[in-house]
Amino acid sequence: MAREQDILRRRGPKRPPHLTSRRIGIHTSTAGGVFNAAERAYRLGCNTLQIFSSSPRQWAPYELSELQCAEMSRLRALYDLKPLVIHTNYLVNLASSTEQFLQKSVEAFRGEVERALALCAEYLVLHPGSYRGTNRERGLLQTAAAIAAATKDLDLAKGGLTILIENTAGSEFSLGGSFEQVAEVIDHLRSILPIAACIDTCHTHVAGYDLVSEEGIYHTLKQLDATIGLNNVKVVHCNDAKAARGSKLDRHQHIGKGMIGKQAFRILLNDLRLAHAAFIAETPIDKPGDDRRNVQALKKLVQ
Ligand SMILES: [Zn+2]
Ligand SMILES: [Zn+2]
Repeated sequence: MAREQDILRRRGPKRPPHLTSRRIGIHTSTAGGVFNAAERAYRLGCNTLQIFSSSPRQWAPYELSELQCAEMSRLRALYDLKPLVIHTNYLVNLASSTEQFLQKSVEAFRGEVERALALCAEYLVLHPGSYRGTNRERGLLQTAAAIAAATKDLDLAKGGLTILIENTAGSEFSLGGSFEQVAEVIDHLRSILPIAACIDTCHTHVAGYDLVSEEGIYHTLKQLDATIGLNNVKVVHCNDAKAARGSKLDRHQHIGKGMIGKQAFRILLNDLRLAHAAFIAETPIDKPGDDRRNVQALKKLVQ
């Protein structure tokens, strides 16, 4: 941890090139303290970022000190990093039909919301869950009910926090493989808390939507607008896909290097109906510098 901070300090501030009119960032490591993510994101040339606020595959509750949160806010203001997006731990399943697991998930998700509020994050992204053991319709209803239960007495609106339901690859029992399913969860909760959507391009493609042909991309945007509404898409996860359209295989690839290709990203980034959205890569790091290259690849597509 100390060494990491030393390295960051020694390098000194450096102005990243290609500032754009769009909010573009990447999922960033919080190693050495949550606020270090802000420093890293800035150095990668981002003006927005996504983080995990706890270990993504562990249940252990994670305490954030007030000092850490204050430092995060200071660095975000200094570097103009907004919005701050937090991705929920992968273990949380609010659609679980097992009472004990559901209880654990609700508690963990409440912790996610509390940390997001403490960090003054704008968005908390959640996968709608897996309905194994029940059916899709009941799963969607239960996810909505569990979100309501987990956020009871927490004032999200006052904290400026919106929960975003992410579309998924739609494999096996996972909810959210269609825009309609995401819209359904949002509709159930719209009247009780700030809720909107996060659309992942890789998930969209492997779930079967066309993001490859120009005509197909516009048709997919039309479907998205007719269901969730483009104004409700607050974050776009920009990931190319290793797997074929409709394969339900969620394998992220570098921007422009996968089965989707650059065109979809160019169209999404330049569509004025999505100008309010944050575009965040969750691309792999196969070799050093891949994170910076993917951020640059997205920025170059802004016209
Ligand atoms: Zn995603
Ligand atoms: Zn994914």
